[in-house]
Formats: sequence, structure tokens, C-alpha cells
Amino acid sequence: MPIRILPANVASQIAAGEVVERPASVVKELVENAIDAGASFISISTEDAGQRLIEVADNGSGIPPEDLLPAVSRHATSKLSTAEDLLHITTLGFRGEALASIGSVSRLSITSRPAGAEAGARLRVEGGESGNIEAAGAPQGTVVRVENLFYNVPARLKFLKSKGTERGQIQALVTRYALAYPHIRFHLKLDGRAVLQTSGNGNRREVLLHAFGKETAPKMLEVLANYDEYAITGFISPTSLTRSNRREIIFFVNGRPIQDVSLSTALINAYHNLLMVGRYPLAVLFLEMPPEALDVNVHPAKTEVRFRERDRVFSAVQRAVRRALLAHTPVPGLDTSTDLLSSWSQEDRRPRDIDLGWSFAQDSGDQGSEGRDAIVEGIDIDGEQPAPPSQAPLPGSGMPLLRLVGQFGSKFLVAEGPDGIYLIDQHAAHERILFEQFMEQRSSAIPSQKLLHPVPVDLPPASARLLEEQIPILSKFGFEVEPFGPGTYLVRAVPALLSNIDPSAALRVLVEEFEEDETPLQAEIEARIIARVCKRAAVKAGQVLSTEEQQALISGLESCRSPRTCPHGRSTMLYLSVDLLERQFGRRGAR
Ligand code: ADP
Ligand code: MG
Repeated sequence: MPIRILPANVASQIAAGEVVERPASVVKELVENAIDAGASFISISTEDAGQRLIEVADNGSGIPPEDLLPAVSRHATSKLSTAEDLLHITTLGFRGEALASIGSVSRLSITSRPAGAEAGARLRVEGGESGNIEAAGAPQGTVVRVENLFYNVPARLKFLKSKGTERGQIQALVTRYALAYPHIRFHLKLDGRAVLQTSGNGNRREVLLHAFGKETAPKMLEVLANYDEYAITGFISPTSLTRSNRREIIFFVNGRPIQDVSLSTALINAYHNLLMVGRYPLAVLFLEMPPEALDVNVHPAKTEVRFRERDRVFSAVQRAVRRALLAHTPVPGLDTSTDLLSSWSQEDRRPRDIDLGWSFAQDSGDQGSEGRDAIVEGIDIDGEQPAPPSQAPLPGSGMPLLRLVGQFGSKFLVAEGPDGIYLIDQHAAHERILFEQFMEQRSSAIPSQKLLHPVPVDLPPASARLLEEQIPILSKFGFEVEPFGPGTYLVRAVPALLSNIDPSAALRVLVEEFEEDETPLQAEIEARIIARVCKRAAVKAGQVLSTEEQQALISGLESCRSPRTCPHGRSTMLYLSVDLLERQFGRRGAR
């Protein structure tokens, strides 16, 4: 066959295929246009799952009559003029092809009245053919109606999923935009039924309720972090709330919903060891960064981006999520469904064990979110029935004031709180205390203490080389280390905070940490090193503590910002409420 230039209508249908895949993609483009137009109210209604009608009305800037024709022409946009502009895009649209694409596969009409204009105007497009501009009465803003989508592309129609699925897609999509833009009032009507109405008051928690429902939404933990030019906000599920796939992991980058496997991987990695195999968290995260930090011009659907500094973005996500998780890690309480006595003997409960029949008293912590909930292991929004909470939530953030009762098993402290008994893991608690003291000191120079007798440490060559490279970091922490013959190093000083530590063991631990290095971020390495050293320096299980030492541990813990976990994420304390004990002793009705 000879090569032919395709007729315009065929070419535009092919191009449209990339932008308009299904009714939800039309909704997406129209909502994005309304957001770009500065609307504070966007109303969306569809009929027959969007096949008969999609109507999006906004109160944004409007389109002057003379711009209506360009608006529906391919590669016509008001959002971009030079190639240079592509480097820092701040609007959701920029390709100038959505309206043209939609117009080529449907019957489209745009009615618009710009701010200050006396009257409005309307333009109709049918299968890519534009009609004339007509005068039309209209409130300020724009109404776009898309009728009979794909009426001229039967192949597309065939590929649409069931009406229920398509409606679900539309609802999910609008809900996401409502979450991303809590200052905009969204109304969504599907076949005459109002399914979403947000207030536009800027409160994301409120919109979250629509997105995840009143069972799940209040349990979502807030993420709030800033690393250099990256800001990460949003919500993630606590470890007790999971699903069997990644579909509830949502990312917005600069206000744009983005599908990116590596971003979700970064998120999932942050839950490392905290979720059971095959379970995934729920999340809605909003990343903000300078427009120059990413390229959004990857695909016509604009759901992919390229990051200039990929690794930094991913580790920022990972850190932000990890931090939020640790800050909110609840004090595990004993589950009434397990035998109380047998639970007492369980030792060394690592985070990954948390999934096994433990319930949590969770509070949403120090990031400004209200609403505490007792969270029960095993809640699954896929539909499993949650078990009733085993005990009342732990009051307050952090931990309450505790009265020391004593030590037992040379491993644990027992303390009384206002509402029950606290069992504290002395080692984990001390690790946490040292860690926070260390991190606190880190803002200035960490004080170091000279050793009376410098300690020589021998290392295998590979480790020695690693250590050599990291000597400057070590000195930041208060370690003074110098080469002392091949493979040998002399430790001259250690951090004052850890003056009782065995210097050679500490150095070996540090080298191990360098060897394991998989995180690219300096600050992260530092935190990990500190966590390692603290682990080494903390009192051990099996160490008998004086009453003063026990008391010091409790007070130390009380002044921690995240007293409930050790720096590695393990629980520092378990909690038994009076209420639970009463029930266990049969003082309150039968179980
Ligand atoms: P893009 O959004 O990439 O610019 P579109 O085809 O979606 O391309 O829209 C073309 C142009 O039409 C936009 O650049 C904008 O100027 C105008 N426009 C579209 N929808 C609206 C709206 N709801 N309010 C105001 N202007 C709009
Ligand atoms: Mg657009």
C-alpha cells in the first residue's frame, strides 16, 4: 500500500484515543480545565455511566466567545506559549488537545461567560466538526456537555467495562480531585443521584471521609513532612489497616494524580516488616515540588511524570511515611481473644509480629489531627468484619505520666498509669531515650568524651576502607577515630552520651551500618547510625536496674517525642487497661 497522509478526522480519532479512553478520562480533562480556570465550585453530572451525557459546570474564569473556536482546536491552549514554558508547568492542562479530542469522539457543547462579560456564548462540535458561535444566557463560568461519547468510534464503545465499573471509575476520580483540592467545592451526580458533595472549606480530613468512608477515614494517619524542596502531605493507613492490592495507593504530584510504580514501592518499603506478606497499605499522598523538578510531558493522559531527582523523591516519600508510621505507632494492648497468661510470656515482639492477634490503642498523635480510635487488628476494608475493640483507646498523645511499680524478669518495668498498667521493655525504652537525646544534640555539635586509654580496633580491609571514608561523619557524632597502621584504627573519643559504651564494639557496629548502606540520604544514614549506636549502648535485657535507674528510664521515656517505639520500630510498651483486667477477672459481665 502506498503511504498516505491520514484524513484529518481519522488522525484526530487516533490522537483522541490516547487522551479519551473512557468516560472517566473525559471527566478528568474537564475537571482539570475547571481547576485551571480557578473555579471554586465544580459540578459534575453524568448519565448512563457517562455514555449518554457528561456535564461539567464551573464558576471559573470562563472563555471569551472569540476563544471558543481555538479552545476546541488541537494544540490550542492558553496555558503555554513557548517551549521554555514546558519546563515549569503549573497548570494541569498544557497540551491543548483535550477539548479537541473529546469533540472528535462525541457531541460536545461549550457554554461560557467570562467574568465581567454581559452575556455568554456557546459552541457545538460534533464528531470533530465545529458549528457557529451562538449567544447564550449563562452564569459566569463554563459548562461543558459531552453527549453520546464514542458514538462514532464503535470499537471504543465495545471496550468499555460494565456501567457499574465505569461509574465507579468516575466517582473514584472525582473523589481524588476533591481530596487534592479541598478548597474547591465538588458536586458529583451519577444518573441523578448525588454521590459526592464536598464543602470546599479546605479540610482534607473531611473529604477523606468521602474517599474512605467513616470506618476507615478516621484511622488514617496524617503525613506531614518537608525535605529540602519536597513537601509531602496526606494520609496513610496504620499497619492494622491493609488491603490485598495496591489500588488504594494514590499519589498526587503538584496537584496531578500520578501513577508511578516506584512511588508506591517507596511507600510500601516504608511499611517494611510492619505488614504481612501480600497485604498493602492505603494512602493518599500529595507531593509538592518546584515545577522544574519534574517533567509532566510524558504521555497525553498526563498521568506519568519524570522526576529530575528520582532517588531523592523516593527516599523523601519513604522517610515521610516511615516517620508518620513510627510517630503513630500505637501502644499494643493485649487482645482479649488471646489467653492473658500465655500472652505475658511472649518476648521480643518485633513489629512484624504485630499482625498476629494484637489490638492497638491508637491515637493520631502530634500532627494536628483530632480523633482517636481504638484500632483493631484484622480490619480489612475489603469487607471482613472488624472484631470489637478489646479495650479503650490510650488517652493523650505520647504516653501518660506513669508511676513506677518495679522491674521484673530483669527485662521489663511495670508502671501504673491513670487507666491501667504499662509494661515497658527496658532495652527498647532506653534505646528510644538515647536516640532522641542524640538527635536533639545533633543540631549543634554532639559533645564527645576523650577516652583515658585510646582503644585500638582491627578491621578487615574492606571494612577498613569503608570506615576510612566515613571518619568525617563519625567525628560529627562525637567519635574520634584515626588510622593506626594497616587495618587498625584508634578510637580516641566517643559521644559523651554513650560514655559507658565499649568503643570497639561501637565502632564495629558502625562499620556494619556502612556496609549495609542502601539509603542514599545522608541524614537518613546518620539517623540509622545513631539508632545502631543507641541499641548498642542501651541497657540490656537481663540487666538488673536500681530503682533510680528504673525511674530515670520512665522519666526519660516521658520526655520523648515518640515514646512508644524504639528507633527500629519495635514497641517500647504494652498496655493493659483497668477495663480489660476487670473483664478478664470476670468483674464485668461474661465474655
Ligand atoms: P489545555 O487544558 O491543555 O490547555 P484543553 O483542550 O483542555 O487544553 O482546553 C483548551 C483551552 O480552553 C484551555 O487552554 C483554556 O484556555 C480553555 N478552557 C477549557 N476549559 C475551560 C474552562 N472550564 N474554563 C475556562 N477555560 C477553559
Ligand atoms: Mg485541559
